[in-house]
Amino acid sequence: MNIILLGPPGAGKGTQARKLVEERDMVQLSTGDMLRAARTSGTEMGKRVAAVMDRGELVTDEIVIGLIREQLESNGSAGGYIFDGFPRTLAQADALGELLRDMGENLDHVIEMQVDDQALVARITARSTCGSCGEVFNDITKPIPADGKCSKCGGSDFQRRADDNEESLRTRLLAYYKQTSPLIGYYHAKGDLVSVDGLGGMDEVADSIAKALA
Ligand code: AMP
Repeated sequence: MNIILLGPPGAGKGTQARKLVEERDMVQLSTGDMLRAARTSGTEMGKRVAAVMDRGELVTDEIVIGLIREQLESNGSAGGYIFDGFPRTLAQADALGELLRDMGENLDHVIEMQVDDQALVARITARSTCGSCGEVFNDITKPIPADGKCSKCGGSDFQRRADDNEESLRTRLLAYYKQTSPLIGYYHAKGDLVSVDGLGGMDEVADSIAKALA
C-alpha cells in the first residue's frame, strides 16, 4: 500500500508516518528529512537549499522529485511507501504518479490531516526533536523527560528546527495554501482523498488514519 500524508506544517505528518512505519512495516519517504540530511552532510545541494528552507519557501520541484526518484529506485518497500511532505506542488504530484506507474505501483490513499492555523503555530513553536532518533517532543503535550533523555533512544541531544519560528512558519503556511492545498482538489477528483481531523491526540489521529486505510 502506498499513501501520501498531506497537510500543513505541524499537522503531525511525520509523527503519524513514524507510527505507520513501526506498525505496518512501511517505508517513510520525507523530503524534508532528506533535505535536512543533505544540509547536515554538507553536500552541494544541501548548501544550495539551506537558505530557501530557513525562509520557509519550497525548494525546486526538480530537486525534490530527484530525491524521491533516487529513493524509489534504491529502496525495497515490503509494506509500501508513506510519502510525507511530498508532493507539495501539482508538478510533484504528476511526477509521483508517473514514477509509481513506471514501477507498476499504485497510489492507494491520500490522507489529508486537517489542523487549524492557531494550533499549528502553537505546536510548531513548542516542538523539538531528538538529534539521535528523530523522536518529536512538544513543550506542552509531550515534554522532554525530566532526566533530559529521549524516551525512545536515551539520547540527550535535542534540537529545534531552524525553520520552526513564527516568521518562517508564516511563509511555510502561505506556501502550503498557495502551492500545496490545490492537491486536495486534485486527489479528491481522482477519488483518492480521505480527510481526517488532525487536532486530537497522537493515538486518536492514528485511529482515524487506520480507519481511512481499512
Ligand atoms: P518539512 O520537514 O516537510 O516541513 O520540510 C521542511 C522544508 O523543506 C520545507 O519548508 C521546504 O523548504 C523543504 N521541502 C520539503 N519537502 C519539500 C517538497 N516536497 N517540495 C519543496 N520543498 C520541500
